[in-house]
Amino acid sequence: MNPPFPPPTLHLLDLQTIDLIVAVTFLIQALVIAINSRLARQYRGIRMFLASEVVLAASFLLLVLLPVLPPGPVGLLSSAFFLWGLALQYGAVVRFTDQQPSRTLLWGLAVVGSLVLLLLVTWPFPLPFVAIRELLAAPLLFGVAYSLKKADITTYRTGAIVTGLPFVGYGCLSVYRVIRGVLDPSLMRPGPSVQNDIDALLVFVLSFLWTAGFLLMINQRLQADLLRLATRDSLTGCLNRRAMAERLEGELLRYRRYGREFAVLLLDLDRFKGINDRWGHAAGDEVLSGIAQVLHGALRGGDSLARWGGEEFLACLPETELDEAAHLADRLRDLVADQTFSFADVSVTFSAGVASIGPDESIDALCRRADQALYRAKETRNRTVKAEADPPA
Ligand code: GH3
Ligand code: MG
Ligand code: MG
Repeated sequence: MNPPFPPPTLHLLDLQTIDLIVAVTFLIQALVIAINSRLARQYRGIRMFLASEVVLAASFLLLVLLPVLPPGPVGLLSSAFFLWGLALQYGAVVRFTDQQPSRTLLWGLAVVGSLVLLLLVTWPFPLPFVAIRELLAAPLLFGVAYSLKKADITTYRTGAIVTGLPFVGYGCLSVYRVIRGVLDPSLMRPGPSVQNDIDALLVFVLSFLWTAGFLLMINQRLQADLLRLATRDSLTGCLNRRAMAERLEGELLRYRRYGREFAVLLLDLDRFKGINDRWGHAAGDEVLSGIAQVLHGALRGGDSLARWGGEEFLACLPETELDEAAHLADRLRDLVADQTFSFADVSVTFSAGVASIGPDESIDALCRRADQALYRAKETRNRTVKAEADPPA
C-alpha cells in the first residue's frame, strides 16, 4: 500500500528566513538613515527614528531565534520590542514634525496594554498572543499617519505621504490580522503558513517604503530650508536682494515677450535711525519685521517683496500701471502708520518712489528711476512720488 501523501502546503519562503530578512532590512535602513542624517542634525526625531529601526530589528531577530529559545518569554520579548519600536517611530515622527505626542493615544495604550497583560496573567486569554500585539500596534501605526496628516508638512509633503501611507497600510494589516485571528485562532499561531509568509513580506515592503519616505522628508526639508536661507532675509522673511533681482529679470522677460507691464515700489522708512537711537536696536528690528508683515499682508498673491537695504523695501508688482502702484503705495503708508509696536506708542512712516517698466528699459535703469523718485519723496518725507518716464536714449 502506498504511504499517504502529506497534505499539500505552499511556502514562498521559510518564515525564519523572512524574519531574518526583515531584521537585516531594519538594520540596513538604520544605517542608511544614520549616513543620510549627518547633514540634518538640526531636525528633531531623527535619532529616535534610528533607535526605532534597531529596536524593530531586535524584535524580528528574536523571532528568528524562536525555535531554539523558550518560545513563551521570547515571543513576549519580541512583541514588547515590536511595540516599543512602533512607539519610538510615533515619537520620532511627532518630534520631526515639531508637534506634541497625543496624550490620549499614549495613555489609552498604556491603560489598554496593562489591562490586557493583567488578563493574560490571571486567566487564559481567549485571543492568541500575536493578536494582542497587533491590537496594540494598530493605534500606534494609525497614530503615525494621523500625526503626519495634522502636521504642517508644506515643505516635505511628498515625503510625508510616502511615509504615512505604508503606516496606514500596516495599521489595516494589523486590524485584519486581529479579525482573522478571532475568526480562526489557528491562523495566528506562529509557524509556517502562507498567511504568515505574506504578512511578513508585507511588513518588509511597508517598512522599506516608510523608511524611504522618512528619508525623503529629511531631504525635502533640507532642500526647502537651504532655499529659504539662500533667498530670504532672516529678520523680516522677505526675499533678499539677489532673489528679487532674479524675479525682476523674470518679470522683464515676460514684459518683453508678452508685453505684460509691471511696476516697482521702492520705500525707505522715515527717520528710522531715530528709533534705533532712542529705543535701541531691538526696537528697530521689531519695526522692520512688523512693517514687513503689514506689507506682506496687503500685497497681492503675485506680488513679491524684498528687503532691498537696511530699512528699504522693494515690491515687484506684476500687471500694475504707474498710477495703480502709486495708489497702492499710499494705501500701504496708511496701513504702516496705523501699525502699533510693543516698545512705544510711535507711528512709523515711509517715503516711496514708484516706477513702471519702460520700453527697452533694463532692470537697473528701472530701479534707478524708482530710487530717484524716492529721493525726491524724501524732500518732505511720508509721501509717494511717481518716477518720470525713461528719458529717450
Ligand atoms: P531718512 O528718513 O532720511 O531715511 O532717515 P533714516 O534715519 O531712516 O535714514 P538713515 O539711512 O540715516 O538710517 C538708516 C538706519 O537703519 C541706519 C541703521 O542703523 C538702520 N538699520 C539698518 N539695518 C538695520 C537692522 O537690521 N536693524 C536695525 N535695528 N536697524 C537697522
Ligand atoms: Mg530711512
Ligand atoms: Mg535708508
